[in-house]
Amino acid sequence: MLPIVYLNQQYLPKEAAALNVADLAILRGYGIFDYFRYQNGQPRFVEDHLDRFLRSAKLLSLEVPISRDELREVVQQLIVRNGGGDGGIRFVLTGGYSADGYTPTKANLVAMSYPFKGPAQEQYEAGAKIMLHEYERQLPEVKSIDYLEGIRIQPLLQKKGCDYALYVDRDHNVRESDRSNFMIVKDGTLITPAEKVLLGITRLHLLRLAGQLGIPTQERPVSVSELLAADEAIICSSTKGAMAITSVDGTPLANGKVGPVTRRLMAGWQEYI
Ligand SMILES: *Cc1c(COP(=O)(O)O)cnc(C)c1O
Repeated sequence: MLPIVYLNQQYLPKEAAALNVADLAILRGYGIFDYFRYQNGQPRFVEDHLDRFLRSAKLLSLEVPISRDELREVVQQLIVRNGGGDGGIRFVLTGGYSADGYTPTKANLVAMSYPFKGPAQEQYEAGAKIMLHEYERQLPEVKSIDYLEGIRIQPLLQKKGCDYALYVDRDHNVRESDRSNFMIVKDGTLITPAEKVLLGITRLHLLRLAGQLGIPTQERPVSVSELLAADEAIICSSTKGAMAITSVDGTPLANGKVGPVTRRLMAGWQEYI
């Protein structure tokens, strides 16, 4: 984490930026967040991220204590006060200090900057090894702070030698990864689920980029069998951009290599952003 943190209208050294133990985020895991990158001091897709942050807050009936303009100002201040350049910003909004340990009160707003370190170039070349995992996120449209299952299964991922999990719902559809969205390519069309997933900003812009590149797109559910028969598959997020999925539960997907549509998106992304 970079040295200066925003906490409830104040900029503080990170060591001094503390929440009280009565916060519902600590007691009940009640809170939301958002994360986005900045490059050369410029935040990436900031309006989309503010939209989503405000939407997540609304879905949990949390009141954001400052206006949208003030949120934007916090982003600028954090970037400048932490030396500009490249990094990531995380906003967190919690349920607040609760006397009875259950009823939300005045939300606490925290914003932090981080140095950015994405996956290694070799990981993009090799693609991701993924593990299918039956799980449905509780409130899929909310970017909540609840990553219980994703964190719980880390030892399992390690044991299986996989990089990421893909969550499969009760209807055998693949929804998303723990912190990334999911797409397949079949006969040249890019297909991605649009319902009961966190609507990622990277997903949104990759769909737009595909449009610009003349790659047809579809937004609809994708079943496990469609994934296994896909020509290519992708996971995407603010930290990763687009990354190929090259194996599923230990079996290579298609020829086990990064496919041509994924390569076009990966190359086009650098221009697009
Ligand atoms: C953050 C997140 C994503 C990716 O969203 P981006 O805005 O592209 O970073 C996808 N799924 C889940 C569950 C997430 O938390």
